[in-house]
Amino acid sequence: MLQNLFNHKRSLSFEVFPPKKDGDFESAFQVMDALGALSPDFISVTYGAGGSRAGKTVEIASYIQNTLGIDAMAHMTCVGSRQESLQQYAAALKEHNISYVLALRGDRPKDMTDEQFNSRDFAHASDMMRFLKENEALHIAGACYPEKHYESFSLESDLNNLKKKQDAGAEFFISQMFFDNDYYYSFLEKAEKKGITVPICAGIMPITSASQLGTTVTLSGSSIPRALSNLIATYGDNKEDMCKAGIDYAIRQIRDLQENDVNDIHIYAMNKPKTTREIVEAIYR
Ligand code: FAD
Repeated sequence: MLQNLFNHKRSLSFEVFPPKKDGDFESAFQVMDALGALSPDFISVTYGAGGSRAGKTVEIASYIQNTLGIDAMAHMTCVGSRQESLQQYAAALKEHNISYVLALRGDRPKDMTDEQFNSRDFAHASDMMRFLKENEALHIAGACYPEKHYESFSLESDLNNLKKKQDAGAEFFISQMFFDNDYYYSFLEKAEKKGITVPICAGIMPITSASQLGTTVTLSGSSIPRALSNLIATYGDNKEDMCKAGIDYAIRQIRDLQENDVNDIHIYAMNKPKTTREIVEAIYR
């Protein structure tokens, strides 16, 4: 239950994505069943850039909420969507009993012109949050970046903007993935000094193949500590060993966080129940 997060109890949550192909819902539902069996407090469902796959996000989030009985949180982005279509999306979520959204600006699509970018209805996530708070009965969460967002000059200015999200109604934050806990501890300290008082979930991405570095991780802008790059250099060519070593790295990272009183863990589950199960069983044993 999402309530655990607000009651300062340990919380565990997962991020999943909707099926990429049409008609792939049955296998996606099986993945959700397997992840749901791990009893997370909530599961968040990503939103395709520009909202092209918004219906799929609603369908997966609805399955989690209404069939599995687990709190679902639907992501939404405003960079490529007009206010009206975001309101339609909010209405669809509410129709399916989904009351939590992760409100994001989104990344500027490569084919978006300057004119389109500059005339967007909501410039930043906080602008959309304010609108949702005033016009839609939804609970709102936001994203945060322990190593700063890639467009920010400094962590200091990014944290000032994070405070704007809290002031606009964000009830909690989920962090970008990080692989070096020291960045996270330092971020938490600075966020507290800036007046961030809402819970923050630590985003953990298990690296189970070398190719993940070339895609997801590079896009996130997160630093790769030497221990992780060494591990990839050693095991990267062997699929099975790399998978084991990556899971082990994530487990050690979470154990260290828990030893340092970081108790809200959000696993980027990447629709991989087996990997996620191994991590969860190790940390909650
Ligand atoms: P914002 O909060 O608007 O921040 C963007 C930049 O603008 C930052 O540099 C910030 O410092 C600055 N800024 C913010 N507010 C202000 C202000 N008021 N004035 C001036 N500057 C400001 N993307 C997807 O497309 N789909 C997803 O499902 C998705 N899920 C995600 C989940 C998590 C947990 C995270 C961390 C990211 C996710 N993203 C997703 C990626 C996200 O959309 C990008 O990181 C995007 O570039 C920024 O989104 P944001 O909501 O943080 O933007």
